[in-house]
Amino acid sequence: MTEQHVCPKCNGQMERGGLRGDKMSKWGHIKESRIFGVDVVDIASPYYAVEAHRCKQCGFIELYATKQQDK
Ligand SMILES: [Zn+2]
Repeated sequence: MTEQHVCPKCNGQMERGGLRGDKMSKWGHIKESRIFGVDVVDIASPYYAVEAHRCKQCGFIELYATKQQDK
């Protein structure tokens, strides 16, 4: 799969990459709950690995979450 991604902002070439960081690297449905009177927002499974495509020209980042993962 060598899909060419084109920047929606400037039509520049997008290069594939990823994001690092705990909650930034996966996608899940928002789950809001209240624990001991404190509102907690978390994400629930199934999780998807997030793939980030960055435009080489303007720096715009487009995110894709197409691959399901366990945790
Ligand atoms: Zn661009």
